Amino acid sequence: MSSILVYHSISAPAEPLPSAVDISPELFERHLHWLSRWREVVPLTETLGQGRNARRTAITFDDGFQDNLTAALPLLEKFDLPMTLFVSAGFVDQPGYLTKADLRSLAQHKLVTIGAHGFWHRHFNRLPVKEARSELIESRQFLQDSIGRQVDLLAWPFGECNEGLEVLAAECGYRAAWSVWKGSNERFSRWRVPLGRWDNMPRFIAKTCGLYGATKARWHRRHTDQEQETNQPQPTVLAA
Ligand SMILES: [Zn+2]
Repeated sequence: MSSILVYHSISAPAEPLPSAVDISPELFERHLHWLSRWREVVPLTETLGQGRNARRTAITFDDGFQDNLTAALPLLEKFDLPMTLFVSAGFVDQPGYLTKADLRSLAQHKLVTIGAHGFWHRHFNRLPVKEARSELIESRQFLQDSIGRQVDLLAWPFGECNEGLEVLAAECGYRAAWSVWKGSNERFSRWRVPLGRWDNMPRFIAKTCGLYGATKARWHRRHTDQEQETNQPQPTVLAA
């Protein structure tokens, strides 16, 4: 089983970002150094095939923070490792996020693939089908128009999806989609390992070795399911 890693922001703010999704450039570099030595890091689409290869790993980023260009890319170049950026279309050109010009230049980079992450980073599990469909179609169209290339990969905002959304993503022209721990872990809801500021090297290595997927992740899924049953909808747009 391949490991798909999900990062957000490579930065070191004094206070953690929501859900502590920030990782300092120094720690990220140590992650990459370890991956380059002990893992086979491949472009994300190469993990879609069948077959078990525990060493195969892909790196993804969600939301479209500007530091993905200014801080993450130089380090990925240093180790020659590919990444897929899942960009929320509505965040483009907002302060702290990638601009259209950034996206155009990133799309030309040999190590970078651009994917969609919804338009306004909404909770898809709570959206009427009509709205979910327009989010999926319009975000994809916006990115394609921005970079002049086809966009057919999707990461669900907040990692949320379900059976109906998996079918909808296929209908809206996506080739594959990734969640975090939701969905069936099939083509339109592949699971990913979330990483944040507390993932020092021992935690990082445990997570990427599959131990996390086998134990903690299953606990996390149950816990989140219970939380979602009791929580009211949240207005937040960031994180996950
Ligand atoms: Zn996100």
